[in-house]
Amino acid sequence: MSMRRKLVAANWKMNGSRAENARWLHGFRDALPACETVVCPPFVYLSQVVEGLAGTAAEAGAQNLSDRTAGAWTGEVTAEMLVDAGAKWVIVGHSERRAAYGEGDDLVGAKAARAFAGGLRPIVCVGETLAQREAGRTQEVVAAQLDAVLAHCAPAQLVGGAIAYEPVWAIGTGRTATPEQAQEVHAAIRARLAERDAGAAEATRLLYGGSVKPGNAAELFRQSDIDGGLIGGASLVAADFLAICAAAI
Ligand code: PEP
Repeated sequence: MSMRRKLVAANWKMNGSRAENARWLHGFRDALPACETVVCPPFVYLSQVVEGLAGTAAEAGAQNLSDRTAGAWTGEVTAEMLVDAGAKWVIVGHSERRAAYGEGDDLVGAKAARAFAGGLRPIVCVGETLAQREAGRTQEVVAAQLDAVLAHCAPAQLVGGAIAYEPVWAIGTGRTATPEQAQEVHAAIRARLAERDAGAAEATRLLYGGSVKPGNAAELFRQSDIDGGLIGGASLVAADFLAICAAAI
């Protein structure tokens, strides 16, 4: 039995409105989960979510941050500003940002380091595309993404954050990795971390993300190196997100 406490994070992506969020928060508060929980809305709703989660153990997170410190960087948001808004966590290097906004491995590593420096706990996303998996390059791609993070962050720091393995072909597609496929990559990530720092590798939470639903969550979370999940589509419905959290206990 691992010492790692399960962690489940909601990634709302670019969805929500003040009214919808209020309904979600109301539903969530009706049946608070027992696992560690993070809710990541768009920036402009962070304060609403922080207030809506007040008095619960759940914490708020952002979906992105700047790699810079405050100054003339139009449209960017610093780690310190997110902390100021009440965020405790931040998603870094989501595949949608890598693919649509050109975030490369090095920038993702720099953002993870900036998150730690600014007082946030990053959930760093890694994962291969379908073409990379079919070419047999999954381990190599994920290792390179992880190494770029380790070029900027000490393994011991990662214990305070999390790494999310999100195969790109499983995100928003309804095509979940099998528990065996996910476990295989999670074990490889932990082994690579262990080459640098065995204690940190044992203590760092590795989340799975990619079409996690109430019906498949328990089987995924039972795998020995899967310490929770990063949930996109299913996190938009409070009852579904709560059911996934319940599967993590
Ligand atoms: C995600 O975007 O982090 C994700 C896992 O999405 P979904 O659950 O919708 O596949």
